[in-house]
Amino acid sequence: MTAQLIDGKAIAGQIYAEIEAEVAELKEKHGVTPGLATVLVGENPASQSYVRSKQKTCTTCGFNSIGEHLPADAPQEDVEALVKRLNQDPTIHGILVQLPLPKHLDEEKILGMISLEKDVDGFHPVNIGRLSMKGRKPLFVPCTPGGCIELLIRSGVEISGKEAVILGRSNIVGLPVAMLLLHRDATITICHSRTRDLPETCRRADILIAAVGRPEMVKADWVKPGAAVIDVGINRVEDPSAKRGYRLVGDVDFDDVNQVAGYLTPVPGGVGPMTIAMLMWNTLAGAKRAAGLID
Ligand code: NDP
Repeated sequence: MTAQLIDGKAIAGQIYAEIEAEVAELKEKHGVTPGLATVLVGENPASQSYVRSKQKTCTTCGFNSIGEHLPADAPQEDVEALVKRLNQDPTIHGILVQLPLPKHLDEEKILGMISLEKDVDGFHPVNIGRLSMKGRKPLFVPCTPGGCIELLIRSGVEISGKEAVILGRSNIVGLPVAMLLLHRDATITICHSRTRDLPETCRRADILIAAVGRPEMVKADWVKPGAAVIDVGINRVEDPSAKRGYRLVGDVDFDDVNQVAGYLTPVPGGVGPMTIAMLMWNTLAGAKRAAGLID
């Protein structure tokens, strides 16, 4: 038997359909159009491409998309002044500063300046703080971790009372996804580069989240039969037979783990499509909050 495939593209499609319906209602009944501002500093081609696809998706969802682009040598004051202006603009409900920023900029300070109500990436220290506290709710949940949880829920995977093992403790994926699972009453174990027996620890998991950035590290004998495995990793591996000379693989050895897991996300087409969908979801939530429709 092979695992049930968790199709991130299809689930993201459901989310977009829900967003489009809500946007139509928001416009008609309240005269509000959600607006997302993207801030790009410099010419990093990967960042440019991420920003373009976010802007394109905004348009598809019926949002206003405001693209702000500063030169690579923009001083800290200019980036801060831009964030302040966007904070004050009532037509903007979400501000996304594309990371990484050029090295001379104080990234933590810039992210901390984004208004809490517009922090659609969910990385503001106050949002992360609330995420890490019992009984508190952040205004926005970080997009990739939020996407992992949506994949589980919408695939009918029970979280409450289950053992969840998270491979990776980064601020953008491992740590927040662990907090989200804890909020949903899973018992969590967070692994990292100093964890002693990874295969043994992973085998305890009913839910295994892999976010390490190591191609195909998780093998079938790391996985408990029937477990739900979410592969966040996106790794390039050389492949002379591929048009671009490489292909993308996850942190999970898909073909191997597919023989044991109960549920499994592919790479690409699993967590990847969910990240932008959750960003749009957060922007919509920002617009609804600004209109007084939600807390
Ligand atoms: P980071 O490099 O920031 O973190 C990796 C984590 O994995 C660290 O906690 C590190 O441990 C741990 N780790 C690394 N190697 C090992 C190892 N051999 N054994 C055990 N633990 C290890 O990565 P990110 O969290 O930013 O990203 C993880 C993966 O997810 C990447 O492939 C990235 O491309 C992908 N990603 C995908 C997204 C999507 O939209 N699908 C979005 C964001 C990321 P330690 O802390 O001890 O160093």
